Amino acid sequence: IEREIAKLERLNVIGQLAAGLGHEVRNPMTTVRGFLQLLQNKNELHSYKNQFTLMIEELDRANSIIREFLSLSKNKPAVFKRKNLNQLITNLFPLIQADAYSQGKKLVFEPGDIADLEIDANEVIQLVLNLARNGLEAMPQEGCLTIKTFMDEEYIVVCVKDEGTGIKPEHVLKLGTPFFTTKENGTGLGIPICYDIAEKHRALIDIETGVDGTTFFVRFPKPKVG
Ligand code: ADP
Ligand code: MG
Repeated sequence: IEREIAKLERLNVIGQLAAGLGHEVRNPMTTVRGFLQLLQNKNELHSYKNQFTLMIEELDRANSIIREFLSLSKNKPAVFKRKNLNQLITNLFPLIQADAYSQGKKLVFEPGDIADLEIDANEVIQLVLNLARNGLEAMPQEGCLTIKTFMDEEYIVVCVKDEGTGIKPEHVLKLGTPFFTTKENGTGLGIPICYDIAEKHRALIDIETGVDGTTFFVRFPKPKVG
């Protein structure tokens, strides 16, 4: 056990170092990005315009990796407050809809009759947002993303269903592994962040996937009455 604790402490220190490093690296990146943008618009460099665009895109990708990594390593204690998931999703709806709309996709919210929960609202917003974004990204052309809530004996459930291409079995096993991505501009940190947030809420994440799409179920244990 002591060995395990020592290992965890070491990982914690490494995490903190990496987070600090992330912060430090971002400033010079911002400078470089600014100059690249300047050069991109110079007439005499016109023939390199595509290369400049690529460099800027890659910098932006590096920046999202750092941003998402920082949110994962922040590890700040969750602030739990009583809240209804339907209200939280209703507030979030316009934000996701803007994303969906700009890609020519539909968004539907089907709120069920559910009890309140003790949650860290900011974190759960992040969780739903990550799943919704993945769902939209999984639908290459059009399609409908459905967010649903319901309650059963044990759980209050949010499900996020897409009509996308599904997840290959060998990829399902890798979900949650930091930096696992099949996207050209992916960070591979969206799902690990979801698992992290779910764990803080003792929630479980289940996945159903096939050729007609993927559904993520997030099951929050129902609060005990009395
Ligand atoms: P990213 O979105 O940056 O790639 P994530 O951690 O959010 O990173 O997702 C990891 C990978 O899991 C994705 O690259 C994709 O292959 C797969 N994935 C996640 N959600 C879905 C989904 N709804 N449909 C299909 N594949 C998905
Ligand atoms: Mg993602």
